[in-house]
Amino acid sequence: MAKYDLVIIGSGPGGYVAAIRAGQYGLKTAVIEKDSYVGGTCLHIGCIPTKVLLHHAEIYDTFQRAAEFGFEVKDVKVNWPAILARKERIVNKHTKGIEFLFRKSKVETITGWGRVAGPGRVSVEKDGKKTEIETTYTMLATGSDARSLPGVEIDGKTILTNKEILELPAIPKSLVVVGAGAVGVEFASIFRTFGTEVTILEMLPRAVPLEDEEISAELMKAFKKRGIRIETEAKVESVKKDAKGATVVFKTKDGKSESLAAEKVLMAVGRRPMTETTGVDKTAAKLERGFVHTNAYMETAEPRLFAIGDIVAGLPQLAHAASMEGLIAVGLMAGKEVQPFDRMKCPNATYCEPQIGSIGMTEKQARDAGIKIKIGKFPFLGNSKATILGHHEGFIKVVAEEKYGEILGVHVIGPLATEIIAEAVTAISLEATLDDLAAMIHAHPTVWEAMGDAFNAVRGLSINA
Ligand SMILES: Cc1cc2nc3c(=O)[nH]c(=O)nc-3n(C[C@H](O)[C@H](O)[C@H](O)COP(=O)(O)OP(=O)(O)OC[C@H]3O[C@@H](n4cnc5c(N)ncnc54)[C@H](O)[C@@H]3O)c2cc1C
Repeated sequence: MAKYDLVIIGSGPGGYVAAIRAGQYGLKTAVIEKDSYVGGTCLHIGCIPTKVLLHHAEIYDTFQRAAEFGFEVKDVKVNWPAILARKERIVNKHTKGIEFLFRKSKVETITGWGRVAGPGRVSVEKDGKKTEIETTYTMLATGSDARSLPGVEIDGKTILTNKEILELPAIPKSLVVVGAGAVGVEFASIFRTFGTEVTILEMLPRAVPLEDEEISAELMKAFKKRGIRIETEAKVESVKKDAKGATVVFKTKDGKSESLAAEKVLMAVGRRPMTETTGVDKTAAKLERGFVHTNAYMETAEPRLFAIGDIVAGLPQLAHAASMEGLIAVGLMAGKEVQPFDRMKCPNATYCEPQIGSIGMTEKQARDAGIKIKIGKFPFLGNSKATILGHHEGFIKVVAEEKYGEILGVHVIGPLATEIIAEAVTAISLEATLDDLAAMIHAHPTVWEAMGDAFNAVRGLSINA
């Protein structure tokens, strides 16, 4: 029986990052992956392919605005198959990249269905054949899968998840997106830019409901301006295929029943953890609706069994969260000094147009926690680089503790939001105060310097607003 220091089940951004680090630390490591390729949801049907499509949509949008930038461009045509082909090339390049990094770190890949078979034992099943391997540590990194609503059947052609919508043969004329979380608003943005008539149905009172309330309001305003219809407090009652596509029946917030016809429907109502038939239920690990409970070092209640990524209860379903959780767990196994995973230090990035980047407490969370706070806001309208880019919509909002000025939360909606949030990540990770940030020199002209204005705005000292 093969024997390893660490066996990881799942090769997404949680599993593959943990595996490479384990190899760097000299742990004999194997990754079990059910698919014939490594990289998981993020690389194949999540973060990377969606961002490729979004980037192409942005280029198309720039062509549409050519006259504003002083160009005469006629007859811009979208070559959808060429866009999909480029997406495929990018995904393949990075899949090969992970394979290379595995070889470099001496990580073995085993193809098959992985299952915790008992303390220090993992089984792998492939083509009806089962083998067992021995391991000191086991890490579950099996990720998540798209959910649907009761009675709504995903057929993959008309009623879609994030997987099938990435392979559509043509851009649909109309699309209903059920769910206004990160996945829903990203696809809504992409297809609206390519000319699709988009309607979003959201059960809660606002889009991106995990974000600060003002960010949600700004996004809904921007979406409406772009011609995206958003119905909040909408209860979807049925989604049925028909000759022309599908019909979605929903109750509006006033209790009226409405029916919408669309060529395609995207179900973006959340993701369920892939922990069924992984054997975790036979261990001492605590489960809640399929999610695994861990401590902040990713240890489950079963000795030497760790869980990371989208399957962990109460932590964000984000690629970089999964990766950091994996690094913490492997550090602990290798006897290194590690810091616990802190949700408040993990940024959120939503790649709709306008983009959203945020970290830490929302204004409401801080007020509900009884903290005395001060708010600073800076609109991108006052930032010269944003004007040069032709994207000066949105703002930065800073939530700071009143007495010492500790930064508690930063919420950005607007150009390069997912990039410039990096400064707030450093600030919050290092527990910086407004004084620290006011003394920081920001290069000019950058979109990033709007951060300096936003931090100064808390004390009414923003220069450009
Ligand atoms: C459309 C979309 C866009 C997204 N965009 C972003 C983004 O921009 N930024 C961001 O941070 N996050 C994004 N996410 C979320 C991100 O993809 C996930 O948080 C991340 O992939 C989770 O990583 P993971 O390692 O936990 O699981 P996964 O990436 O889901 O990987 C799990 C792996 O485990 C394998 N597996 C499952 N069960 C078994 C088994 N029993 N045996 C063997 N192998 C198994 C699976 O095949 C898969 O390869 C997006 C998600 C979606 C759906």
